[in-house]
Amino acid sequence: MFDDLADLYQQLILDHNQSPRNFLMLPDADCRAHGINPNCGDNYTLYAKVDGDVVKEISFQGSGCAISKASASLLTVSLKGKTKVEMKTLFDKVHDMILTGNIDGDVGSLAALAGVHKFPERTKCAILPWHAAMAAVEGRGETVSTETEKE
Ligand code: ZN
Repeated sequence: MFDDLADLYQQLILDHNQSPRNFLMLPDADCRAHGINPNCGDNYTLYAKVDGDVVKEISFQGSGCAISKASASLLTVSLKGKTKVEMKTLFDKVHDMILTGNIDGDVGSLAALAGVHKFPERTKCAILPWHAAMAAVEGRGETVSTETEKE
């Protein structure tokens, strides 16, 4: 049973890497941020359209390893339509899940990222797009690097 679930999550990661969702530049984005992970070479730009408090559209472009790309793709699917407060709550859950493997409540297909905790050298790959998305929506418009991640 557990193996089936692990297989399902692996399939999800592979699918989102091969066919990333929302993998485009938003021409009318009103916020964006750039995220880099020098350890792995992951390099993405996150684009968002925010209306008041709600993330209306979110997309990404760039390149990197399978885990970072799948995480970015899952992120765009999960964050569309969320408020900034919901986004921060989800960020904290996903951050914890990637580092510890603990799944807190129903996070849908994002649960696929929990398996990354077994590969400590890849956790930064999975977290990177989330840092960039937060930086974009908070209007910091800066480049975030996993090297500033607090351990
Ligand atoms: Zn990577």
